[in-house]
Amino acid sequence: MKIVILSRNKKLYSTRRLVEAGQERGHEMRVVDHQRCYMNIASHKPAVHYRGEVLEDVDAVIPRIGASITFYGTAVLRQFEMMGVYPLNESVAISRSRDKLRSLQLLSRKGVGLPITGFAHSPDDTQDLLSIAGGAPVVIKLLEGTQGIGVVLAETRKAAESVIEAFRGLNANFLVQEFISESAGSDIRCLVVGDKVVAAMQRQGKEGEFRSNLHRGGTSKLIRITPEERATAIRSAKIMGLNVAGVDIIRSNHGPVVLEVNSSPGLEGIERTTEKDVAGMIISHIEKNAKKGNTRTRGKG
Ligand code: ADP
Ligand code: MG
Repeated sequence: MKIVILSRNKKLYSTRRLVEAGQERGHEMRVVDHQRCYMNIASHKPAVHYRGEVLEDVDAVIPRIGASITFYGTAVLRQFEMMGVYPLNESVAISRSRDKLRSLQLLSRKGVGLPITGFAHSPDDTQDLLSIAGGAPVVIKLLEGTQGIGVVLAETRKAAESVIEAFRGLNANFLVQEFISESAGSDIRCLVVGDKVVAAMQRQGKEGEFRSNLHRGGTSKLIRITPEERATAIRSAKIMGLNVAGVDIIRSNHGPVVLEVNSSPGLEGIERTTEKDVAGMIISHIEKNAKKGNTRTRGKG
């Protein structure tokens, strides 16, 4: 098969591993920088151009689109979908997952366990909003943050008010969430491929840090997840419409709660921790599913 990886940097661990895993299985792997793709969207025959060349006969696309360029990256992916190319994750599902509020609403609609979460626009409702989240301490999050940046723990009501005031002053959208203190700075990353959790690890924030993100200095170790956690991760990915996802779960006093569902989960931490060939499993999922036109939306919606 001819498989295109949309990635800005071919040296990144995840990109390198996917290229390697694909080549090992005899596929033609090509890394394409989506920022450098362009297209004629009014043409009857949709095509993607790249550095003066038309990308043809592509069987599958693996999007590894960074959060800061979701808008353009998903537009390029959509163009591939219009051409009938199989996307590992669809553009619509990626856009959904990048917005924390939208994701939580979708998950909540299907009854997935979540931290109590509030959202408001008007500054007049701040006090009530804090009460919804159970009062201080609360976690305040920018809707489009990643890697722990834009996630703040406000330990007192006064601190929460100041952070909310600052975010509002910057015209940033945010949500306010109950702080799950019993997790003690740890969470579980479940790597879902298709309808399976193929690898899972526990992440622990560094000393004095409630955010477990490896990018924030967290560490990881192997963990055995419960059947309930496994089912929750698989359902969450499915609800978001993602074939491959990193589902973050916290063990709370009221059972597993989902923090977020990542559409471009990093492979380095999970492969190193579990010693599993996750990239290989992703390629094998593509082999089973990449039929022309096998997308749920074909770029619609
Ligand atoms: P990001 O997209 O930046 O990774 P997350 O919502 O995943 O944002 O939050 C980052 C980390 O902060 C989580 O992995 C978790 O360790 C911690 N965290 C987030 N929300 C809560 C919460 N409500 N209670 C306790 N810890 C949380
Ligand atoms: Mg996260």
